[in-house]
Amino acid sequence: MADYTNLQKRFLARRILLAILFLIPIFFGAGSRPAQAQATYPIYVVEYGDTLSWIAQRFDTTLDQLMTLNNIQPDDMLRPGDRLQIPSLEGMQGILTTEYVALGSSLTSLSRRSQTDTAVLVKANRLTSPSELFIGREIIMTIQENGSYMTTMPAVKPGQSFLEASVLSGKNTWLLAELNGLASPTMGMPMDTYYMPSAEANGSNLALPGIKSIVLDNLPLIQGDTFLIEVESDQPVTIKADLASIQPAFVDLSGVQMAYGGINAMTEPGVYPLTMTVTYPDGSEYRFDQLVMINTGNFQIDKPLQVDPESIGTEAEKAENAMFKSIVLPVTPVQQWDGLWYSPAQDADCIISEFGSRRTYNDDPGVYYHTGLDLGYCNGTDVYAPAGGTVVGVFPNQVVRGNTIVIDHGLGVYTMYFHLNEILVEQGAVVESGQLIGIIGTTGRSTGPHLHFEVDIQGTPVNPLTWLRRAFP
Ligand SMILES: [Zn+2]
Repeated sequence: MADYTNLQKRFLARRILLAILFLIPIFFGAGSRPAQAQATYPIYVVEYGDTLSWIAQRFDTTLDQLMTLNNIQPDDMLRPGDRLQIPSLEGMQGILTTEYVALGSSLTSLSRRSQTDTAVLVKANRLTSPSELFIGREIIMTIQENGSYMTTMPAVKPGQSFLEASVLSGKNTWLLAELNGLASPTMGMPMDTYYMPSAEANGSNLALPGIKSIVLDNLPLIQGDTFLIEVESDQPVTIKADLASIQPAFVDLSGVQMAYGGINAMTEPGVYPLTMTVTYPDGSEYRFDQLVMINTGNFQIDKPLQVDPESIGTEAEKAENAMFKSIVLPVTPVQQWDGLWYSPAQDADCIISEFGSRRTYNDDPGVYYHTGLDLGYCNGTDVYAPAGGTVVGVFPNQVVRGNTIVIDHGLGVYTMYFHLNEILVEQGAVVESGQLIGIIGTTGRSTGPHLHFEVDIQGTPVNPLTWLRRAFP
C-alpha cells in the first residue's frame, strides 16, 4: 500500500495546484476580459459530386453558416479535396468520416477513440438514447490527421490496474489516462475498453482478457446476407454467439476463430440482439449483448408465377428439398477458398434474376423468395467453380433442380449449381477456383437455359453477389 500512499500524495498535490490555477482568474481576473477558448470545428473533405447545399443538409447546418465560416463567395467553385469547417459540429476536431457502429462500441468507447466529448457525439449524431448505438448504424466520427490511429489497449485484466496495463503497453500512463478521459491512471476498470495511439489500425472495439480482437464483419448487416464473426485470442477460449436466432459455428484456424452466418432473406428488417459468450480455460465466462441493425435487402417483387398446381408442394419436391438441406448443414473445419470469388458463369453481368426476389405461385397466399442468382448464357455456357472446394454432391435429374452440383468450401459455406445440361465433375473431386465443372442447361423445373447459382451458409441461402464483390475474411 506504500506505493499508493505516495501516489495519493502526488494526486493531492496536483489537485491543490490545479485548484490554485483555477482560482487565479477569479482573484486577479475580475474586470478584465475573460479569455475565450478558441472554438474548434471538424473538417469535411469534399468528395467528388458533393454540393454545398448537400453538405449543409448532411450536417444539419445552413448554406449561409457554411459559407460564412469557410469564407466562401457565391462564385467560388467547390472542388474534391477542398476542406470545409462544419459550423454545426463545434467542439469536434479532426477529419469527419462516417462509419458503422462496430461490435463492442459504446458512446464512451467512441468518444475515447475519436477524442470527442460524448455530448458532441450525441449532438452530431442526433442520438436520444445510448441504445440507439446498435451495431451497423451509420455514425459521424472524426479521425486524426497525423496518421496515427486510436487502437484498443490490451485489456485490463481482473486484479490489474489501468496503471499497470498502461505501463505494460509502453506508453506514458498519464497521457493514456487523459486520452481515455480518466482523471488519473488509477481510475481505469477491468473489462472497459481503452484506446492508445498506434501507427496501425486494429478493427476491434472490445477489450476482453485473453482476446486480441473481436470483430463482426460485413456491416451493415442486410437481410439475406453473410456475416462473419472473427475472434483472435491468446488462450484457447470457447466462443458462442446468437444473432437473431442464428448460432454461427466457430472454427479455430490457428488462433483465429471464424464463424460464418447467413441471415434469412425473410427476416424482418429491424434491430436484433447479438449475444456472445466467451468461456475461458478455467471455466469462467464472460457474456455481453449488443443490438444489431438488420437492414432491408430491397428485394424485388416478381409477378405471380402460374405453374401446374400438381407440380407444387409434391412429396417428391419435399423429399428433394430435405435431402439438399441436409447436405449443406455440416461445418467442415477448413477454409478451402482464398479471397474473392469469381463468377461461375462466363458473363458475370448476365443476370436474369436476382437473389431474394419475392415470389408467389398461382393463388397460393404464401410468399417465397429466390434462393439463388440466375445467370444466363449471354457469352458462353461454361460453368466454373467460383472458389476452391470439394464436390460433395453430384445429382442428376432432380425434379426441381435438374442436374445439380454441390460444393463444400468449408466453414459451413456451400455453393450449388442447378438446371445444368452437363455435369463435368465427380463426387469427391477437389476443385480449384475457375475450374470447369458443368454446362448451363434447363433441366428440372426451369423455363429456359440458365444457371441457378446458390450460396448456403449452415443451410441458409445468402446473396451470392456479396461473395463475388468482396473477399472473406
Ligand atoms: Zn434461380
